[in-house]
Amino acid sequence: MFNKRVKIKELLSWEPKEQEVTVMGWVRTFRNNQFIALNDGSTNNNLQVVTELGKFDESLLKRITTSASLKVRGIVIPSLGKGQKLEVKATTIEILGDSDAEKYPLQPKKHSLEFLREIAHLRFRTNTFGSVFRIRHSLAFAVHKFFNDKGFVYMHTPIITASDAEGAGETFRVTTLPVENAPKNEDGSVNYKEDFFGRATNLTVSGQLEGELGATAFGDIYTFGPTFRAENSNTARHLAEFWMIEPEMAFYDLEDNANLAEEFIKYLIQYAMDNNREDLEFLAQRLAEEEKQLPQDKRSELGLIEKLEFVVNNDFQRLTYTEAIEVLKESSHNKKKKFQYPITGWGMDLQSEHERWLVEKHFKKPVILSNYPAAIKAFYMRQNEDGKTVAAMDILAPGIGEIVGGSQREERLDRLEARMKEMNIPAEELWWYLDTRRFGTVPHAGFGLGFERMVQFVTGMTNIRDVIAFPRTPKSAEF
Ligand code: ATP
Ligand code: MN
Repeated sequence: MFNKRVKIKELLSWEPKEQEVTVMGWVRTFRNNQFIALNDGSTNNNLQVVTELGKFDESLLKRITTSASLKVRGIVIPSLGKGQKLEVKATTIEILGDSDAEKYPLQPKKHSLEFLREIAHLRFRTNTFGSVFRIRHSLAFAVHKFFNDKGFVYMHTPIITASDAEGAGETFRVTTLPVENAPKNEDGSVNYKEDFFGRATNLTVSGQLEGELGATAFGDIYTFGPTFRAENSNTARHLAEFWMIEPEMAFYDLEDNANLAEEFIKYLIQYAMDNNREDLEFLAQRLAEEEKQLPQDKRSELGLIEKLEFVVNNDFQRLTYTEAIEVLKESSHNKKKKFQYPITGWGMDLQSEHERWLVEKHFKKPVILSNYPAAIKAFYMRQNEDGKTVAAMDILAPGIGEIVGGSQREERLDRLEARMKEMNIPAEELWWYLDTRRFGTVPHAGFGLGFERMVQFVTGMTNIRDVIAFPRTPKSAEF
């Protein structure tokens, strides 16, 4: 058996009592031919491994270079040096893998996030990405825990679908037809009858429609999987491949939906604060450093951890779209014409600058906007009695913008069919979806939380490319 080791995170919590241990990891630095800072990815804190002078061959010591991997056996003793309570006095050192320090792209110095994106295969070995991805893991675990504890069924909705019924964005086509020489119909269009599935298919943009099928049997379900949007938006909060959590609940109205979403977001934040304290503290420090580069008025008023505590401890601001338009219209920001897109009035779609102003400048907390004009929302949202709005809700978070999009769904078959007709959505293709409204329809609701945006919020990372292992964005699919 090879893997008889103690993880460094655990070891660092021990009282040093000359325990005999085996540790394995990668060298961060090797100082004075005597002090190895060893990291195994369980924490940003390195273990100090001490090689007593004269005990090891010069030829071995030479191979202890930054990023070489080691297996060390030794004794845990109190540390004489500052900065750590304990260290391991090495009795044997085995080099598992050499590393040419000259060629290793990650030098022990500060690298820009942009540079690290180019070496995304190695960036997990930095403190920043170590912290971000341990927190990402924790949040993913917390997602399952939250819903499992509430009796939701985790449902795996398909990745390949035949509908972009949501109309959420551009889709990626899935095909086995030859690109150069695709079979054509008489009118020159591609003949997808010849394709693998006998029809045109694409990568899913959302699992919601299938999720509704689950909710109308299990009551409460959630999905948590990858979604794909070929939207050509090169922003710091859009990816072409991102992970989404989509709960869908029978017997829920819009308010129940908003309550669950708010509880869920707070739960995730609290989970990270309880389980990833050290990593959050590291990232808080990192963010504070980053913000020093910004002009005073662009800096956050709260540090990362204070911000998270504030969000957990305060109610989200709830208001309707109509009220939001009023607030925006009357704002001095609008009157001084400081929005790039002026507030033209009721019916307009809110731009991200409007959302950010509401959240960051006006309410200074997360905001739940509800009851949007039907014309700017999807066909399945429940039509309100005013004949103009639908029971939609978006949650907007400081620094991120939209983090959740959801709605109560239209459960009345006649209303739904009428709306689909208006929006030219082919009812024949969605016969299975409409069946839920034919056979025991119920009021129900759900939402989608963009997982990466949530990770951004918790970690304080400003670019979404830095919270997913291998980002997929326009013109970029390396690794
Ligand atoms: P946006 O206006 O920011 O593009 P959207 O209205 O397209 O968002 P929805 O279709 O409601 O978003 O998707 C639900 C959630 O998925 C959003 O609230 C957001 O958190 C996340 N999301 C949407 N598009 C992306 C994307 N391209 N990359 C990462 N997350 C996304
Ligand atoms: Mn979008």
